[in-house]
Amino acid sequence: MKIWLDGGLQDIESARVSVFDHGLTVGDGIFETVKATDGEPFALTRHLNRLTRSARGLGLPDPDHDEVRRACTAVLEANPMPLGRLRITYTGGHGPLGSDRGEHGPTLVVALGGTTRRPDSTAVITVPWTRNERGALTGLKTTSYAENVVALARAHQYGGSEALFANTVGQLCEGTGSNVFVVLDGEIHTPPLASGCLAGITRELVVEWTGAKETDLPLDVLRRADEIFLTSTLRDVQAVHRVDERELPGAPGPVTAKAMRIFDERSGQDQDP
Ligand code: PLP
Repeated sequence: MKIWLDGGLQDIESARVSVFDHGLTVGDGIFETVKATDGEPFALTRHLNRLTRSARGLGLPDPDHDEVRRACTAVLEANPMPLGRLRITYTGGHGPLGSDRGEHGPTLVVALGGTTRRPDSTAVITVPWTRNERGALTGLKTTSYAENVVALARAHQYGGSEALFANTVGQLCEGTGSNVFVVLDGEIHTPPLASGCLAGITRELVVEWTGAKETDLPLDVLRRADEIFLTSTLRDVQAVHRVDERELPGAPGPVTAKAMRIFDERSGQDQDP
């Protein structure tokens, strides 16, 4: 397995990052996960734009999009696989912390892992912890993901594959690694970015392609929504068949099934929508 580090391809077994790298020590880093089918990354431009937004939010230098594209191409060519996930990690490196980062540049790692197509539906839980919709890191895709890891572990404990958060004012927000949509009276709704959720690329595309509305939704909408679905790079559009104790028999329902079809068709037509 070859990865990209320090400006070129390296063997994963011998590649080295400083043990003082701030991505490792304090979570001062950002990342993107990009789906790649037959060596072709999906929606890479949108992912690179989000990477830059996250970098600016953390005060990291703007990532060089040409270098990241070159890195993705090199890693995909060196590790052919039918369905993979590119992991782009960009950290503050090991210079001083804060605004003066000294002469040490950031660390860019691009690696490729395998993945499989997710089932059409899944079970989720809600967690008692809140997402802060007004924090310094709100909306940034940082490597500070431990809160998500804890929530995901709880979901697994209850037989689910995802945990959903409300924000501090009790509105539905997002999952640990996905955005959430609900169907009410035939209309699709998803929490707005002001809820504190990540601007998911899949969420963005589903809103554009289905006309889903961005609506403030109380957490208990999950108890009455006709249908619920998740979106993410690795799930695409995935129906929810159980949320906590509530079963949603027949998931994916008709509106979710249509959203899945639209997403499959449109994403199959354009690799970089
Ligand atoms: N929300 C969080 C917290 C995430 O980490 C992710 C993806 O990793 C998403 C939502 C979904 O975003 P995307 O569709 O870009 O994968």
